Amino acid sequence: MAATQRIVIENCAIATVDAHGTEYGCGYVVVAGDRIEAVGAGRAPTGPADAVRRIDATGHLVTPGLVNTHHHFYQWLTRGLATDHNLFDWLVTLYPVWARIDEPMVSAAARGSLAMMARGGVTTAMDHHYIHPKGSGDLSGAIVRAARETGVRFTLARGSMDRGEKDGGLPPDFAVETLDGALAATEAAVDEHHDHSFGAMTQVAVAPCSPVSVSSDLLKQGAELARRKGVRLHTHGSETVEEERFCHELFGMGPTDYFESTGWLGEDVWMAHCVHMNDSDIAAFARTGTGVAHCPSSNARLAAGIARVPDMLAAGVPVGLGVDGTASNESGELHTELRNALLVNRLGPHREAALTARQALRLGTYGGAQVLGRAREIGSLEPGKLADLVLWRMDTLAHASIADPVAALVLGAAAPVTASFVGGRQIVENGRLLHVDEDAIARSTRTEARRLAELAGRG
Ligand SMILES: [Zn+2]
Repeated sequence: MAATQRIVIENCAIATVDAHGTEYGCGYVVVAGDRIEAVGAGRAPTGPADAVRRIDATGHLVTPGLVNTHHHFYQWLTRGLATDHNLFDWLVTLYPVWARIDEPMVSAAARGSLAMMARGGVTTAMDHHYIHPKGSGDLSGAIVRAARETGVRFTLARGSMDRGEKDGGLPPDFAVETLDGALAATEAAVDEHHDHSFGAMTQVAVAPCSPVSVSSDLLKQGAELARRKGVRLHTHGSETVEEERFCHELFGMGPTDYFESTGWLGEDVWMAHCVHMNDSDIAAFARTGTGVAHCPSSNARLAAGIARVPDMLAAGVPVGLGVDGTASNESGELHTELRNALLVNRLGPHREAALTARQALRLGTYGGAQVLGRAREIGSLEPGKLADLVLWRMDTLAHASIADPVAALVLGAAAPVTASFVGGRQIVENGRLLHVDEDAIARSTRTEARRLAELAGRG
C-alpha cells in the first residue's frame, strides 16, 4: 500500500489506551499506509480525497490490537493432558511427549496457535520455543514462517534448556541441548530473523527456559549474547513455590536474587508469571525496569498462585498479558486474559480495587508493547504509531445491552472481531482469517497431534 493511501474508520467508540486514557464515544481513526494518521471525536475530516476505503464502524469499539507476551505454540498439540497437575508434575508428565516434536508438528501447532489468537484480536504474538530435540529440523524457521503467513507482528523467543535430570534439572536428559549448542543456535536465529527497524514484523529474543531447566552459565552467557546483539531477554520466573524452593536449595537464594546474580534484571528483560514475589523482588523489578508477562489462566490451571499485579503496577513495573502455552490454557485466546487478570487479581488482597476494566485493557495492549520493548511503535492508537488495531462488534446479543464498551469488551463474552489490521494491512474480516485457511489448519493440527501421540506412545 502506498504511504498516501488511506483507510478511514468512523462512527465508532474508540479506546486509544494513550497515556491519558483518552476515549471517544463516537469518533474516527485515519490510517495512512502502515501508520495511524489521526484519531479524534465526531466525523472524520471530510474526505482525504485519496481515501481508498471508508469503514462505517457503527456499533463497534476500536482498540489497539492485543499484544501477547508469553506463549508456547508447540503445546497446541498437547492440549487437555495432565489436567489435574501442578506445574512440576505437569512438566514431568509432558516432557517425554514434547521431546518427540519435529518440524511439521511445530509448524502445524504454530499455525493453530497463531490463527486462534489472530482471529480473537491479537495483532502482536510471541512464541517462547525452548524444546529442540536433536534432528527435529528448523523449528525457528517454521515458526517465523507461520507468523508471516498469518500476518501478525511477531517475537520469537528462541528458548533453550541445558539442565537435564543428571544435572539436577527437571527435563529428561534427551530433551536438552548442550550449552554451546544452545548459544550458537540462538545466535543463528537472531542473525537470521531479527529485524531492528521501526515497524519490524519479526524480532527475536534470547530465552533460556527457566531456572529449573537451564544452567547458570546458559543464563549468564545468554544475557551477554542478547546484549551484544541488541535483542531482548525472556524466561520464566518465580512461577511456583516449588521453583522458589528449588532456587533456595541449589543457589542459596530466591529466584529474583538468582536472576540478578546472572545478569537477568534490566529494562531489556521480561519474565513470565512472577507469581511468588516479595516486596523486595517487586522493588528490584521496578528499579531495573524488568517486565512481567502476567498469565492468569495458566497460573490458575496449574494452581501456581496469584501474581501481585496491583503491587507491580503501583511500583512502576511494566506488565503485559500472556496466554502461556495451550497445554496449560487450552483456550489459547488473549481476550480471556483481560477478563481473568481482572477477576483473579480481585480475589487477592486488593479486592475490588485490584484492577479496573481499563487497566485490564491496558495490560493487554500498551503493557504488552512495553514488555516487548515496542511501546514507541504499538500498544495505543496515536498518530505516528503503527496501525495495529481491532474493530470489536458490540451491537450483537452478547454486548448490546452494556452501555460502556470497554466494560463490555473486558467483562463480557468474547466480542466478535469485524476487522483486525496489522500495520494497516487487514488480517481478519468478520471473524475469519484473510491470509490462511483456518479449516485446513484445524485439520493439520489434528493430524500432527495424533502423530505426536502415537510417537510418544511408542517411545
Ligand atoms: Zn510458559
